[in-house]
Order: sequence, then C-alpha cells, then structure tokens
Amino acid sequence: MEQIAYVNGSFVPMSEAKVSVLDRGFLFADGIYEVAAVLDGKLIDNASHLARLERSVGEIQLELPETTARIQEIQKELVARNNLVNGMVYLEVTRGADTGRDFAFPKGVKPTLIMFTSVKDIIGAPSAKSGIGVITVPDLRWTRRDIKSVALLAQVLAKQAAAEAGAGEAWMIEDGKVTEGGSSSAFILTQDDVLVTRQNGSAILPGCTRKAVVALAEERQLRVEERAFSIEEALAAKEAFITSATVFVQAVVTIDGKKVANGKPGPMTGRLREIYVDFAEATAV
Ligand code: PLP
Repeated sequence: MEQIAYVNGSFVPMSEAKVSVLDRGFLFADGIYEVAAVLDGKLIDNASHLARLERSVGEIQLELPETTARIQEIQKELVARNNLVNGMVYLEVTRGADTGRDFAFPKGVKPTLIMFTSVKDIIGAPSAKSGIGVITVPDLRWTRRDIKSVALLAQVLAKQAAAEAGAGEAWMIEDGKVTEGGSSSAFILTQDDVLVTRQNGSAILPGCTRKAVVALAEERQLRVEERAFSIEEALAAKEAFITSATVFVQAVVTIDGKKVANGKPGPMTGRLREIYVDFAEATAV
C-alpha cells in the first residue's frame, strides 16, 4: 500500500503529496521542522518536540496553522493510517506560498504544514550495538542553530563527507570545540566519570533526547557538566556517544579513525541507552 502523507489538511498518497514551487520552504528554507520517534505505534517524547516546534516558529515570527494539540492528533492519525510500528514522523511548517519571490514576509498567506512517516527499527539497528565512527568537519552553519530550521545545507555537506568516509555522523567543530553532530547532540564521559555535553545556547540545537538524557543521568546522581569539549578531550575520554530522536543513545567508537578508549561501545553508554528506552516507553503517547 502506498504511503500516506499529510498536506495542509488532507491525508493523501505520497505520490500526490505536493506543495507549490513558490513555497517559501523551497525558495528560502523559510520553515521549521521536527522529527519524533515512533515505538510500537506511539510517539516518543512528543511534548518536548512540540514545545521546541512552538519555540522555533516563535523565533522566526511564524504562526502555526494548527494548535500543537491538533498537530499531535494529525501525527497520530498519520501513524495509524500508515500502520507504522517503529520509525518516525517528520513534520514541517513553512511560511507558505506567496505569488512571487519577495524576501519579506507575505501578508495573508497561510503557512504550509506537511507530515510524513518513515520506518526505522531504532531499538534493533545494528549501529546501536556496534557504535559508529564520526568524522570532524568545520561548523559552517549560521549563528541561530537553536532554531530547528530546514536550512540544512551545512549538515548535508557534513553528513555526505561522513558517508563518504564510512562514518555514521559528522561532529562539527568551531573554535577548536565540538558544537554537535550533523543531526545529533554530542556527549563524552570523562575518565573521572563526568558526563559532558555542550551547554544550550545559539551554537547548538537544544536536543530533546539530550535534555531527557541529561535529566535521567542527573536523577541517577551522575555528574553532568554542560560545557564545550575538544576532540583531544573526546579521544582521551572513557566513552563518547550521540543522542537524537532517531538513534536515541548511540556509542561513538572512533573519531577521525582514532579509537575512543578500546574502540568499543562503553558500559555507561549502554546503560544510558537502556534508561532512555525505558523512559521512551513509559512516556509514549
Ligand atoms: N542537533 C542537531 C543539529 C540535530 O539536527 C538534531 C536532530 O535532528 C539533534 C541535535 C538532536 O535533537 P533531538 O534529540 O531533539 O532529535
């Protein structure tokens, strides 16, 4: 059966899911997106994703065309219509399609809202067991990375470089420090068992999974320091990992081909992954 997408109020087969060539998402990357995981047909940590969506659209003065409560209903209906068990729901809202290509905001134009789902076995993914290698690339992005904008060209280039190097993610570097992964937050566990991840601010996206993992770690009396770290520090660490809605917690075993510790996923990463999966299952809607 053909996949069903949601476009501006309608559920339609993917082959009929279309927006205008004048859509500002297409012309200017004038839009915001969110990705929430689905486990056993339920949305994971979706309140956090919808809160970030509201914040992102607010930062670019874009009004959501639906309430977040309605957006969640649409997400759920889309999951049901696609019989999605494990995977993710992608949603994007743009400033809509004007009659031309003026940079300034159009007046009286309804934002575009689209959603689609994709299948992924997040729990059973082979890289969940093996860990991944990361490469490092310069962080070429703009200075408002806290906004989950669809302007992702820097990440496209970073993740293409990673793919060509056989790596699973690219860690982006600015002023000698890791900002974050192309589509994930970056963590290390130091030799004295401190969990380190960069502090939120305009240099990184405030990851929903990052937020949950930091809170879950602190609840378990693990020391967490929110600060930037260098690649030298990561290579001297006990463990390294990434977090995101679509990988949860995933070990990083090499950086630019050099091993982190013994080059195997570390026990704390495994434990935090289990704790996150429990949290995900317990809070699924
Ligand atoms: N950082 C960036 C740049 C991302 O694109 C993402 C996810 O796409 C993340 C971090 C992780 O965020 P989340 O845990 O909310 O998926």
